[in-house]
Amino acid sequence: MVQKNEVFDLEITGMTHEGMGVGKKDGFAVFVQGAIDGEIVIVKIIKVLKGYAIARIEEFIKKSPERQEPFCPVYKRCGGCSIQHMTYEKTLAFKRQVVLDNLTRIGGLDNVQVNETIGMERPFSYRNKAQYPVGMGKTGPVSGFFAPRSHEIIDSEVCEIQHPVSDVAKKTVLDYIKKYNVSVYDEITHKGLIRHVVTKVGFTTGEVMVIVVATRKELPHRDKLIEALKSNIPELKSVVLNINEKPGNVILGEKNITLYGKDTIEDVLGGLVFEISPLSFYQVNPIQTEILYKKAIEYATLSGNETIFDLYCGIGTIGLFAASKAKKVIGVEVVEEAVKAAKKNALRNNISNAEFYAGKAEEVVPELYKKGERADVVFVDPPRKGCDEELLKTLVDMSPERIVYVSCNPSTLARDLKYLTSQGFKVHEVQPVDMFPWSYHVECVVLMSRL
Ligand code: SAH
Repeated sequence: MVQKNEVFDLEITGMTHEGMGVGKKDGFAVFVQGAIDGEIVIVKIIKVLKGYAIARIEEFIKKSPERQEPFCPVYKRCGGCSIQHMTYEKTLAFKRQVVLDNLTRIGGLDNVQVNETIGMERPFSYRNKAQYPVGMGKTGPVSGFFAPRSHEIIDSEVCEIQHPVSDVAKKTVLDYIKKYNVSVYDEITHKGLIRHVVTKVGFTTGEVMVIVVATRKELPHRDKLIEALKSNIPELKSVVLNINEKPGNVILGEKNITLYGKDTIEDVLGGLVFEISPLSFYQVNPIQTEILYKKAIEYATLSGNETIFDLYCGIGTIGLFAASKAKKVIGVEVVEEAVKAAKKNALRNNISNAEFYAGKAEEVVPELYKKGERADVVFVDPPRKGCDEELLKTLVDMSPERIVYVSCNPSTLARDLKYLTSQGFKVHEVQPVDMFPWSYHVECVVLMSRL
């Protein structure tokens, strides 16, 4: 056991999935924020929990050659990025290791081929969507990002992972709030008007949407805000007021009022045009998304005769990417708005062999199967909690030739692969793709086939 405030040398021998260094003190696990495997550090215990302790670095005895100076001035205080103290190369190796660990420990899969993580040539300014909370700081209104495990807002003029126009939009709204004494939301009292500034940027088209999230629809001096946004952002195509009256962490409410320009913006991905609305899901890193989808479609090895299922399809991106190489595409998605967008996107791109259904994949797919629909190739791209077991059972019964699994959470991926491999599928290859540079999150695409 270790005691609070105890100080000792520690050799870092591993990493947690959130990027903390791990060492053992007399067999007891000690987690150290900011330490890298291979380092030897003097640590001070700040908290002792049941199975492990948390410590802080006091001093370095041996530094990793893979350590770098974080490029962001608020890195230590902001909860956004968590692995800026590693070189980019190291972060890619770390992410591959996280996938490998999960597949072996949870999935029981030994000898799986996990490729090197595909990184970005320039892992900066990659996000096409920013969500800045707005609140009251010590000296006035602030907007930025939440501190780790807290709702303290850390203000920073520049966020290097966002498209630069997002920072401009945030600053413009904040200046307007200060200039006209507009009230900001208080999470505790639920009073105040402005809650968030959300931006969406079409990387290929250059179109920009700014969404101001407020508790009511009356914005004082609203024309001044629009004028300021227009003059600071030449590519501005849409300003939307989103109403969110409900307390809680959900950022966007259901009601949108377009204050300026169009209701939606457009982006081009892999030669296809997609409509982006305030509420629909769209991958946040368009450069890596194209790489991810290309990999997924390569894994599908389509000849043109296949029926493919695109499950958890969002606005239909993967299925529409694959449509020209398949006989028929069936997409399933739970958010109705997204299904409408998927249908529109198919029309917009002259794709006539794609159908989309609204509903839970675990309910719609068994129904389709009962009606006689069969897929030759299935894409699944579930949210963090992974696939529902009902869905996996139906896939096993339907027995497609290949399943291509796109995952943003290696632990639920490993759980689902464990099930599928016990039911007659084989995992061929796993490709991690760095969709979220400098955060510990890792995305991967997996090729499986029927035995
Ligand atoms: N494939 C899309 C979206 C992936 S995100 C893309 O690449 O853009 C996961 C999607 O799953 C979200 O759109 C979410 O709304 C949807 N979803 C969540 N639970 C679902 C369920 N049970 N059935 C179908 N879709 C679901």
